[in-house]
Amino acid sequence: MHTIKASQSPAATVKSLGWSSELTAAIFAIAKVKQFKAGDILCRVGEFENFIGLLLQGQLFVQSEHGAAKSRIRAVDIFGEIAFILPRARSADVIACRPGRYLQIHFLALRKLLTRATGLAAEWYRWLSSRLAERVVEETQDQRTYIALIAHDQKKQELIGFAKRHHDVLQHFDLTATGTTAKKLLEQADVAVTRSVASGPLGGDQAIGQLITTGNIKAVIFFRDPLNAHPHEADVQALMRLCDVYSIPLATNAGSAELLLKRLESEKWS
Ligand code: PGA
Repeated sequence: MHTIKASQSPAATVKSLGWSSELTAAIFAIAKVKQFKAGDILCRVGEFENFIGLLLQGQLFVQSEHGAAKSRIRAVDIFGEIAFILPRARSADVIACRPGRYLQIHFLALRKLLTRATGLAAEWYRWLSSRLAERVVEETQDQRTYIALIAHDQKKQELIGFAKRHHDVLQHFDLTATGTTAKKLLEQADVAVTRSVASGPLGGDQAIGQLITTGNIKAVIFFRDPLNAHPHEADVQALMRLCDVYSIPLATNAGSAELLLKRLESEKWS
């Protein structure tokens, strides 16, 4: 990771945040633009880094210690802001899915700025609290409809091959996946899911089933292993049953997954 000049990062990039030009200029004046490459870890669980990040370009994946809360951050948005409000160690890793850059705003410099300029402080805290409130709504009332990707262990490489072949198409959809599948998709196919759930044997298939009941799933692609027994077979059956109850398209092998994705793609652009 290396620093590049702030002047190379047009403040216009952050227009969508709705900050005043004064706040934008003041924040850029105290911050540094940093570049990152795919796989870089920008924040680590348990560490006390003292900065807020403002993602200007690229995509980040947030992965909590226990794998419970995982989400994607797209430019332009902040990350690492909780430690600014509640001084404590990071509760999640923030990992770069692809190269990009972010604004690194150190707590100390930010606090100094906010103490000195009360008008900017009011604007900053108003903006921060509304962004946090939006996050709560996004997390508790998820309005997205996902394609769910799941693969049994013996089928994970097949799913990774599928994801690599259809990488560009998959990027246009919100994706969800069971824990290990999500991790491998990111590491081996550069496909980041928007929301991941627990690992399949730990209830992940049930979690996908729950998302079906709340209208958050548009299709399930589940590369099942038909040759081995699985401890969570009952959960797998329950998930497939819910697909039938709610008429959710379900592909359980590469052949049907190809057709299903083609259909989803054509619907997306029609
Ligand atoms: P996993 O779960 O992605 O966490 O391995 C998949 C499954 O076995 O149902």
